[in-house]
Amino acid sequence: MNGERDDTRELTAPLPPPSFTMEARSAREARIAETAGSGNAPPPGHLHLDGLAFRVRRSPRRRTLALTVERDGELVVSAPESESMERLERWVRSRLLWAHRTLARRNALQAGARRPEFVPGESFSYLGQNHMLRIVHSLPVPLQFDGWRFLLRENERGRAHDHFRLWYTAAGRTWLPERCARLARLACARPARIVVRDLGFRWGSCGRNGAIYFHWRLMQLPVRLADYVIVHELTHLAEHHHGPAFWAALERALPDWRERKEQLDREGIRWMGV
Ligand SMILES: [Zn+2]
Repeated sequence: MNGERDDTRELTAPLPPPSFTMEARSAREARIAETAGSGNAPPPGHLHLDGLAFRVRRSPRRRTLALTVERDGELVVSAPESESMERLERWVRSRLLWAHRTLARRNALQAGARRPEFVPGESFSYLGQNHMLRIVHSLPVPLQFDGWRFLLRENERGRAHDHFRLWYTAAGRTWLPERCARLARLACARPARIVVRDLGFRWGSCGRNGAIYFHWRLMQLPVRLADYVIVHELTHLAEHHHGPAFWAALERALPDWRERKEQLDREGIRWMGV
């Protein structure tokens, strides 16, 4: 997962509890400060402001400032190598309210996430349809879906989470390329590669070289919401950033994208526990 943020262009539909990022609003705001003497001493790794600790992550490739709340709640400021601590602190100070609010929202979302227990009768979603879990004594594989129920072998209950993750990943590797092919006509874009894996707190992302990435958890979403994430990422193949051109293209591809996005923001948490 390290370096993933660099491989992917940006966040997609918020995935609760998300990794929140606030990018600098303008290039001017984030222009690299050319402060005399900066770069002589090693830059401090942390910034403490208003009772919050911010880890400063510098990169020679980065040109703008960004503030992120990581999945574990850590606050990270990504900055260009040469950004002065003074400017960096001023920028972070102007975003303290956002940081406090985002942390509070993240904590509330995490408290609401479902924690599966993998007990008989518990239901698990596959593309929005709930399927009951049955624990069985013998089964040729640890976890099986018979089209109606999930069957889990009793002696594998301790590793049930891993088995579900693998199952959803395999299901996504079959379903997502087919679905993308169907939806590609709407977005007028075809990905070079589709990757299904763990994306932390993002549902999907668009990488370089025309690859798009989907979280395996996407396979739990109702098709209507999964479609929103797919079309969102397909649209990024041509429009990389969330500018007006991106939203206009998304609107052409999926006129009711707003309702779907709102539903995903509101209900996404339901599919985050497993
Ligand atoms: Zn996006």
